[in-house]
Amino acid sequence: MLPVRGYAKAKVAVLGMGRSGLAAARALRAGKAQVLCWDDDDKRRVEAKAQGFDLADLSRDESWQNVVLLVASPGISHLYPQPHPIIQKAWDHGVVVDNDIGLFFRSYGDESWERFAVAPKVICITGSNGKSTTTALVSHILRFCGKTVQMGGNIGRGVLDLDPAEDGEVVVLELSSYQTDLARSLAPDIAVFMNLSPDHLDRHAGMGGYFAAKRRLFSEGGPERAIIGIDQIEGRYLANQMRQEHPSGDPVITISSERKLQGEQWSCFARKGFLSEWRKGRQVASVDLRGMETLPGAHNHENACAAYAVARSLGLAPSKIADAMQTFSGLPHRCQVVGRTETGALVVNDSKATNIDAAEKALQAFENVHWIVGGQGKEGGIAGLKPLFKRVQRAYLIGQSAAEFATQLGDTPYEISQTIPSAVKAAIAAAGKDDVVLLAPAAASFDQYPNFELRGDAFVEAVSPYLAK
Ligand code: ADP
Repeated sequence: MLPVRGYAKAKVAVLGMGRSGLAAARALRAGKAQVLCWDDDDKRRVEAKAQGFDLADLSRDESWQNVVLLVASPGISHLYPQPHPIIQKAWDHGVVVDNDIGLFFRSYGDESWERFAVAPKVICITGSNGKSTTTALVSHILRFCGKTVQMGGNIGRGVLDLDPAEDGEVVVLELSSYQTDLARSLAPDIAVFMNLSPDHLDRHAGMGGYFAAKRRLFSEGGPERAIIGIDQIEGRYLANQMRQEHPSGDPVITISSERKLQGEQWSCFARKGFLSEWRKGRQVASVDLRGMETLPGAHNHENACAAYAVARSLGLAPSKIADAMQTFSGLPHRCQVVGRTETGALVVNDSKATNIDAAEKALQAFENVHWIVGGQGKEGGIAGLKPLFKRVQRAYLIGQSAAEFATQLGDTPYEISQTIPSAVKAAIAAAGKDDVVLLAPAAASFDQYPNFELRGDAFVEAVSPYLAK
């Protein structure tokens, strides 16, 4: 754990007793702050109490006496659609509002760093899609190349649960827009912006607010290196702006999975299964991504470009990075290659594809698909995926949305399987050597499973008896 610096003996309130809130409370206590905890949910308050924390009802004015800081959890809105009443109380009492990410950046560096031969570095990765995969891939590459790595943020451990820095280590953090929006201190050494597509718009009052929240990663501390996906206009704008702000040396590496970037500036792009790095008008290196089974599809090639650019920024050699990518095991539930069946069909678990945007990426990544699809459908169902139905040999419809999705499939052969085990049985029986059995539900899991992880686990369990040893 990372004790929070700067609040010894001060009264600090923590709102939200989930994973990050409890970690913040523990780290503040370790930093000798006087911690007051609150959560609107009774059960969570009981949990905080069980961990030895004092509770204070922050909806009451008396609770705010001498409080100097409020630490809020990412799930709690501070502006839109409306600020949580306790956040407004903090404003009324003139109390600063921050989150665990802000506290991390204040607390990570300390006097012990003077003894280090190599200063630790912090890499932050944000974007609408691919954050977790890229964060895991960067961590894997760096470990493979012999670096000491800690990974956390929105994936794995909360930032304040990380260990104090070691000589030369690299911290790789996945950050959501909720986290970047509120943090008062954001000073990564390397910042990565992957891509932008509409998401969480109610929390950011639209696309502009959503982009502004992510952009803070680049505007607050001024990273020494900015890696920016430019397949959307927001990324192109940001890259252009970062370049203008640093006339002395270009801090930007642009990345793309859609266009060739072959100019004077440092760039990395993926086309037709090859990653190319360009600098000063010439190709510096190229990596063949086609055989990398755990990074299928153009969307994963974008993730590969981002991770490659991070590794190059840290001075690693292209061939070493390529070797590391070959051994990446992939993340569960995100186009995760589970194995091959006895007949040679590839089995892929993309349970995280809870909407049609993510399912679209999965369908684009494969052909001859036996598609297990459905669940708690979203507005519009799967109609938007029609151009990709030609890649589908047969669909196996599961969950609540089965009847609706069936009407949207057009001429695509389908059967109503209802459950994952029966869909798996039918799909595996039908799939041949060059086929892919793909779970990409394009729907939430809540009709049959509490979350997408358990849905993916059920899929993996159902296919496992059919996998070649
Ligand atoms: P995040 O952490 O940003 O949610 P993940 O790596 O967990 O991203 O992937 C979430 C979903 O989006 C998965 O279904 C995955 O296959 C898909 N995906 C992964 N990378 C990308 C990308 N670069 N662009 C679009 N979709 C992606």
